[in-house]
Amino acid sequence: MILVRFGIEFEESVFEKILKILKECEGKEVKVEDLLKLCFEHEIKSSDYLFLVLQELSSAKLIESSKGSIKVGNIPQEFIEKIKENLKERIKRVKKVFVTPLEVAKFYQCPRRLWLEKIVVSKQEKEKVGKVWDGEAVHLAVKLMIENMQKEKDENFLILTASEEAIKKYEGMIQLEKKTLEDFLRKFLELIKDENFVSLYSERTIESLKEGIIGSIDVIGFKENEVVPIEIKYAAFKGKLKKEHLLQSVGESMLAGSYFRKTVRYSYLVYFQTNSLIKIEMNENLVRQFSNLKKQMQKLYSTGRIPPKSKLPNYVKRVCQGCHVRKACENIEFWKKAPKKY
Ligand code: SF4
Repeated sequence: MILVRFGIEFEESVFEKILKILKECEGKEVKVEDLLKLCFEHEIKSSDYLFLVLQELSSAKLIESSKGSIKVGNIPQEFIEKIKENLKERIKRVKKVFVTPLEVAKFYQCPRRLWLEKIVVSKQEKEKVGKVWDGEAVHLAVKLMIENMQKEKDENFLILTASEEAIKKYEGMIQLEKKTLEDFLRKFLELIKDENFVSLYSERTIESLKEGIIGSIDVIGFKENEVVPIEIKYAAFKGKLKKEHLLQSVGESMLAGSYFRKTVRYSYLVYFQTNSLIKIEMNENLVRQFSNLKKQMQKLYSTGRIPPKSKLPNYVKRVCQGCHVRKACENIEFWKKAPKKY
């Protein structure tokens, strides 16, 4: 799902969950790394919320921190109410434009197209049958397979049931063959085994208050000392990695890294139609490119001006073909050239 969001809202339930986790740690010394994992497992979207709470507790001397761990003292109920009030105020002051890695990738392709899609909400009509739904079915099958991996050890059964359920859900809308989906899941499972992940999660939304990024990551794999985001593309890999796919993957690595306060060294892009696996090694240059585009995008969206057309070489062939907001874009051009009467 993609969204553009201005600022954030205080969600009481998130803080209830964090405080519950901390209450269960009262009197114990816990590793920050374990706390982060607990927050993630409890579907807390941003670890920044945890650190905000810890800051409050630290200033009230209710926790003691030492290298990578904290000792949680007794947290009185009346103090919990005070923390909530303080955090409500602090969160109200976050006035950032939140963008997703996918939006940054789309912005790279054409700032105006994304603007027309998001700001004036020119909705793309989903076709009744076709690729879009095939893509949804693939994502659902992966999700089901990952969710059931812990309890179902028979791999063949796991693959068959995940594909069957996904195909059933989108019956009449997809052209995807069950056998093709099963073969893909089998290959995906091989990747998971080769990587020796300790745990896996699918379709988790993460947000970074500091970076102003929010996004849903298809799959996140955890190793002892490594976090690996995996993005699944329904598309075919045609020998050259598309920059927009690279940017999205970089943004997702930044999000995962910001949640777990560690450097994500690499991520994967998996292409369904060609069963291709691309490993993306993260580096400073990629992070810089993503951050610059993100800043440009946040700035442009704050001005209220109509963004320019794509500036990519050969953009008419690369992005305009099949652009569903083309009519609106042409109207803007027409309007800009029309003589103005005052
Ligand atoms: S028609 Fe081309 S330039 Fe216009 S919004 Fe679409 S992709 Fe961008």
